Amino acid sequence: MIKKVDHIGIAVKNLEEAIKIWEGLGLKTDEVEEVPDQKVRTAIIHVGESRIELLEPTAEDSPIAKFIAKRGEGIHHIALGVENLEEHLIKLKEAGYRLIDEKPRRGAGGAKIAFVHPKAVTGVLLELCERKTE
Ligand code: ZN
Repeated sequence: MIKKVDHIGIAVKNLEEAIKIWEGLGLKTDEVEEVPDQKVRTAIIHVGESRIELLEPTAEDSPIAKFIAKRGEGIHHIALGVENLEEHLIKLKEAGYRLIDEKPRRGAGGAKIAFVHPKAVTGVLLELCERKTE
């Protein structure tokens, strides 16, 4: 049911500068997308089958802005690709995992996403992510 590490989310202050840095490594990024639900602008970097998701806050109360204020730029979350997100969330809740999102919401690229609290997962903010086509 868990398919793979779908992507790693990285909090950045300036998306255009971050894109330049990552493209300097020889990688390609998709078009920048705004995700109003999470108050971020994102750029997806393709690395073979995996992705890196750069996240720039668009508001001071964005979770990414708070993260950067507290800890600086860096790895923000790890996302696992799953097949049936709703079902996963019910199972995790039953198993006692502390969820940030009990219902899926909309992420970049039209994916359904939900976050599990870092205190529940060895200090890692975990995103579960379901994509339609793969
Ligand atoms: Zn993500």
